Amino acid sequence: MRAMVWFRSDFRLKDNPALHHACQDADRGVVAVFAVCPDQWEQHDDAGCKVDFWLRNLKQLSQDLAEKNIALRILQTDSFEGVPKALLKLARDNECDAIYFNRQYEVNEKERDDRVVEAFEGADLGVNRFTDQCAFAPGELRTGKGTFYTVFTPFKKAWYQAFIDEPDRLEPLKKPRKLSEMVGKPDKVPTSASGFDVPGKIADLWPAGEKAAHDRLKRFLADGLGDYKKDRDFPGRDGTSALSPYLASGVIPIRQCYHAAISANDGKADSGDAGAVCWISELIWREFYKHLLVAFPRLSRHRAFKLETESLEWNDSDDLHSAWCEGRTGVPIVDAAMRQLVQTGWMHNRLRMIAAMFYTKNLFLDWRRGERFFMQHLIDGDLSANNGGWQWSASTGTDAAPYFRIFNPYSQSKKFDPEGEFIRTFVPELEDVDSKDIHDPSQIPGLLRSQLDYPDPIVDCYETRKAAIEAFKELS
Ligand SMILES: Cc1cc2nc3c(=O)[nH]c(=O)nc-3n(C[C@H](O)[C@H](O)[C@H](O)COP(=O)(O)OP(=O)(O)OC[C@H]3O[C@@H](n4cnc5c(N)ncnc54)[C@H](O)[C@@H]3O)c2cc1C
Repeated sequence: MRAMVWFRSDFRLKDNPALHHACQDADRGVVAVFAVCPDQWEQHDDAGCKVDFWLRNLKQLSQDLAEKNIALRILQTDSFEGVPKALLKLARDNECDAIYFNRQYEVNEKERDDRVVEAFEGADLGVNRFTDQCAFAPGELRTGKGTFYTVFTPFKKAWYQAFIDEPDRLEPLKKPRKLSEMVGKPDKVPTSASGFDVPGKIADLWPAGEKAAHDRLKRFLADGLGDYKKDRDFPGRDGTSALSPYLASGVIPIRQCYHAAISANDGKADSGDAGAVCWISELIWREFYKHLLVAFPRLSRHRAFKLETESLEWNDSDDLHSAWCEGRTGVPIVDAAMRQLVQTGWMHNRLRMIAAMFYTKNLFLDWRRGERFFMQHLIDGDLSANNGGWQWSASTGTDAAPYFRIFNPYSQSKKFDPEGEFIRTFVPELEDVDSKDIHDPSQIPGLLRSQLDYPDPIVDCYETRKAAIEAFKELS
């Protein structure tokens, strides 16, 4: 038996179910393959820094696979359309008997995979699909009535119970063995994809490869996990794992993150060390949003979970949108957040909530437009988490922030960046403003204010908050 392993968002050797099983089953070698689809990536708004991250990880993966005598082949198919035919041809040319891959859950990806399955089964070749992105595959955890959960807390409880029933789910798989012979030769991995610009500095912040990801996890377990609950909301502190790009691209498996945190917490997921319990709960949020994507395919098509909110008449101002994108709204915490996104490819979770809520409630701009801008810039851009976060902030999603509970960005700023140190990092115009005034420099009197090269707030947060609540009220 010769196996073909199709890599997608699982750029790793360790604990990779598709690769693991292919290596176990095959006695005539394994061929690895990755399809480069720049047109499709552009359609999906994938960020230049994310595509660059994929290609850097792919290069490392190719080297790691070669050490196991597995050649990584590259298919250039532009869009998903050409993938089934190209894969089948490669399988035939290399006399492969079956394809192995890990499941993805977005609508276009699922449709593409269904066509691949059809093509392979039609040619009498085997198909083997595995769960990789979640501990429990979407649909496995259901309510007593057999429906998908739409509220997080009962979903989390069901997750805890499933883990108690089946702790082995999180056991890491054995490393793939070294094969006796390589089938064919590895292709050259492209270093860039046309149409994707990559700000060079971002690559230095996010080194590629499994080792970098595991080092980051180890560092976080040693220095961050215990204080996670206390520090996680402060963007000026190094209080979160910064593993999201590695998780979104599958450079590190989610199971190993759960496993590591639970092991550090004496085998428990739902009690014990507050930091560990809180971090595990965030990992379960990630899983919850993937379940929702499968339960409600319209979420992949940028539809609201709460359909009644689709009649909201959002503001369509290009000027407000541009000011937000460029970090010049005159609200320092929002501007610092947006500049962090554009300059580093990442944004702290508390800031994602503040920036998205300001966009949808104070600017009253359509969440889809903001969601899209995030996707175009995030190195960890992930449809389920991004859509979940935006619909939470916009109060259009399931288990979302109630529409009347709107963050005041100035209070959030005072609470989570009290000294203004995070603001000063990304808004150097305010470098010399003291901690008392930095959260709302429009209140600084006279000459001092006029000397600052910083805009006045583009909206009145008090008035716009009232208007947003009224607009939502009219829906009911
Ligand atoms: C508007 C908005 C958009 C978002 N877009 C994305 C996105 O495109 N990709 C993405 O991975 N996350 C997204 N998130 C969730 C969250 O902000 C990031 O996962 C987190 O900031 C990543 O930093 P970290 O790795 O240090 O997280 P940690 O706090 O260390 O958490 C560990 C991991 O848990 C997962 N996680 C944590 N919080 C959440 C959450 N609220 N929802 C889903 N997963 C979570 C992530 O995989 C994260 O890496 C978004 C949140 C909001 C409010």
